[in-house]
Amino acid sequence: MKIGKYDCSSIEMGKFVLDGGAMFGVVPKVLWEREIPADYKNRIPMSARCLLIQGDNKKILVDTGMGNKFSDKEKKIYGLKEVFDIESKLSELNLSCKDITDVILTHLHFDHAGGATKIENGKIIPTFQNAQYHVQKEHFHSALNPTKRDKASFIKDNFEPLMNHGVLKTLDGFCELFEDIEFIITKGHTNFQQHPLIKGENNSLFFCGDIFPTASHLPVSWHMGYDNNPLTILDEKENLLKRALNEKWIMFFEHDPKIPAVTLKEGKKGIEIDQVIEI
Ligand SMILES: [Zn+2]
Repeated sequence: MKIGKYDCSSIEMGKFVLDGGAMFGVVPKVLWEREIPADYKNRIPMSARCLLIQGDNKKILVDTGMGNKFSDKEKKIYGLKEVFDIESKLSELNLSCKDITDVILTHLHFDHAGGATKIENGKIIPTFQNAQYHVQKEHFHSALNPTKRDKASFIKDNFEPLMNHGVLKTLDGFCELFEDIEFIITKGHTNFQQHPLIKGENNSLFFCGDIFPTASHLPVSWHMGYDNNPLTILDEKENLLKRALNEKWIMFFEHDPKIPAVTLKEGKKGIEIDQVIEI
């Protein structure tokens, strides 16, 4: 899909399952299971969907999925159903890991940053050897000193090797790293999550990350039990939805099991899905 000067492609990096109750926080199960039905262990299917942005002599990957460093036991614990090989996924687009110039990490939870590093000859090294990785400075500090709430989501092997190899660039809030790509910062899910907004004349694409993990999380109060600051996320979602509607954003979902992206409209009960978009 063309957005302004960039070509955007969705890349499915894996499938996993998470507890449905944890994914919908205070929303009763009778309501959320109409949206995404749970299995016999109350788990719901999730995708790890990344975005490749090509243009302006850049090949930018947004988030990296779970990666391939998990043992079989860990795969069971984290509910990993399928993890796709990133090299073969890129080869479908006639690219290889070497071609990636930049990796934007929304945040460093393992289902977003797991693919940032890989094991080669017993050592953990950056997966994209020619890429500069970008994360918010404040978020990086939080990952090194996590809250008790999201401690289990940070695995140092996913990001410390990036620092040691000198390929991790830490950003200070809003910045114009790439032309026509705005970085929007949120703090409700985790401290200083960054969401790229790719801007075109007729449409823009917003990378929702973990603020709207699936299309079912569009209603403001439907947010995850995992979120660090529930009241903050309510305000952030409300403001983002208003802006999304005004500026006709396409909302790109990293974790929705079926719906990659949508446009929005004002409905009877508030802002709702207008059209499903394939990317
Ligand atoms: Zn997260």
